[in-house]
Amino acid sequence: MVDSPSSIEQAFQAIDSQGRRVRPGCVLIDPDRIDRRINDLAAQIAETYTGQGQDELVIVAIMTGAMVFLADLVRAIRRPIRMGIMIVTNYPGVATKAVGPQLDYDLRIDITDKHVLVIDDILDTGGTLAKVTERIRSRSPRSVRTCVLLEKDIPDPRAIEADFVGFRVPNEFVIGYGLDYDGLFRNYPGIAVLESAEHEG
Ligand code: 5GP
Ligand code: MG
Repeated sequence: MVDSPSSIEQAFQAIDSQGRRVRPGCVLIDPDRIDRRINDLAAQIAETYTGQGQDELVIVAIMTGAMVFLADLVRAIRRPIRMGIMIVTNYPGVATKAVGPQLDYDLRIDITDKHVLVIDDILDTGGTLAKVTERIRSRSPRSVRTCVLLEKDIPDPRAIEADFVGFRVPNEFVIGYGLDYDGLFRNYPGIAVLESAEHEG
């Protein structure tokens, strides 16, 4: 991957906690496309819940990866909502292989009889959304739907499919727009494949 040194990806180059040089590599989705797609998703979501009661939609975001997507998506949804969070960790530290979803912070708001929309950054095996939606269903919501910005193109069937999907991406470790590697790159405004020094030619 050769980019001009003045490129925005170059500005995000960093050293990870094991001393490797890392940066956003191949850009999959630029910020303008994300912006446009979020407006479509927000319209679809508002339409889906039309007439469902003005104060009954609760958006539950899975942190930390969903934080940037959440911020942009909720501001594009033209209807009242409430918001809550859960924190689930899959890739601790420099891991780029999942260790399985671990619940670090549980939802603290009441969802009894509410329509719940779970938001996550990316759907891979579906293990995270399956675990979270099962937990949410045990608290008697009126309905549970799911929305992800990205869906990975994986060969195997998933534990769960999402109701609203922004983009499909190849089966690679991606970063940016909330998605991190070793805590880095959440503020990179597009979606890119992680590039690390050991992969460079
Ligand atoms: P799943 O449980 O569906 O296999 O994985 C979904 C979770 O793993 C997401 O919430 C996300 O935090 C994390 N994840 C999956 N794939 C990626 C990826 O390519 N990059 C990053 N940064 N996180 C990922
Ligand atoms: Mg996550």
